[in-house]
Amino acid sequence: MIGPSPIERIEARILDIPTIRPHKLSFGAISRQSPVIVQLWLRNGATGFGEAATIGGPSWNEESPESIWHAIQTYLAPALVDQDGAAFGAVLARMDVACKGNAFAKSAVEMALIDAVSRSLNLPAYQLLGGKRHQSLPLVWTLASGDVAQDLEEAQLRLQQKRHRIFKMKIGARTPQQDVAVVSEIARGLAGKATLTVDVNQAWDGHTARRYLPQLIDAGVTLIEQPVAKWNVEALKTLSAELGSRASIMADETVCTPQDAMLLARGQASHVFSLKVAKHGGLLRTRQVAGIAEAADIGWYGGTMLETSIGSAASAHVFATLNHQHHGCELFGPQLLVDDLVTARMPIVDFELQLPDGPGFGVEVDQTQLDRFDRARTGLHTTHIDLGHQATA
Ligand SMILES: [Mg+2]
Repeated sequence: MIGPSPIERIEARILDIPTIRPHKLSFGAISRQSPVIVQLWLRNGATGFGEAATIGGPSWNEESPESIWHAIQTYLAPALVDQDGAAFGAVLARMDVACKGNAFAKSAVEMALIDAVSRSLNLPAYQLLGGKRHQSLPLVWTLASGDVAQDLEEAQLRLQQKRHRIFKMKIGARTPQQDVAVVSEIARGLAGKATLTVDVNQAWDGHTARRYLPQLIDAGVTLIEQPVAKWNVEALKTLSAELGSRASIMADETVCTPQDAMLLARGQASHVFSLKVAKHGGLLRTRQVAGIAEAADIGWYGGTMLETSIGSAASAHVFATLNHQHHGCELFGPQLLVDDLVTARMPIVDFELQLPDGPGFGVEVDQTQLDRFDRARTGLHTTHIDLGHQATA
């Protein structure tokens, strides 16, 4: 066994990978993903990969692929050269000194470091994160084609294939009345066969949410994600209290830092946290947020920023270490992309995503795929989002 050793070098690149279909959310539609892929080398020869993906450039939150790349190349990587690779807490603290905020950028670096150190020890990363409590998790698919017939067709196919039986709908781009009608139609089509959840991605104000969420619940929706703006904790609190006996309210954009988690826990402002490695600033901080959830009797959900198999496998490793109060995971990013960056994807068996057990995050990166999608080679200059249906004034 080779022990951990100092960090030798860290490199980041932006990739551009088309999606299999447009993916429509409350704030726009994407037709390609632009993950930032980080490779980190230890002086002992081991190497690891990390990833940070955003949805539609800086449309989901403040960070974009371009800002993530810049923060890593300019500030985080130089600050970490020659630091002890196994001292994860010290590495995080040093990144915090070098750079305020920038959680996505830090998460990609920490991910690559944990992959490299795990590979040095020839251990799966979950062994360094507390040990495995799940071998698999139910896997959600998001219906976001923007077309009811296509959404239903997708859902039926995935049910038949035994890939998914929990479906999430992205709503908030249409009027609330239209959303209720569309969700009701899909719910009727899937009745008795699948579970339906919705993600409003902050699109509604508190009053709209109080008025229309009961109608979605009547239609059969059981889990409601981020119905109001990120800052609107008071509305989340009211909705959680009023609707809690009939459905669960899940915070996503509102819960990023451990301090956000404490605020929500103190206010009993959600029943579930959507955990995402990128927004929490890494795998270890995801565990901190999950710890606050557990102490406050709040459940968790394994969220995605539509990462490739690199970021998805890393997320699966940390989710595997958490408790049993969960609502499944949505690490379906690889399936939404036309191609992947690893030699073999995580298997899906009987509606559940199977945790890869090999060293590191258990997936092997295909270098030719990194080169194929590298923005430096493809000549693209920005991260694309179609804001076509959004108001411009
Ligand atoms: Mg969400």
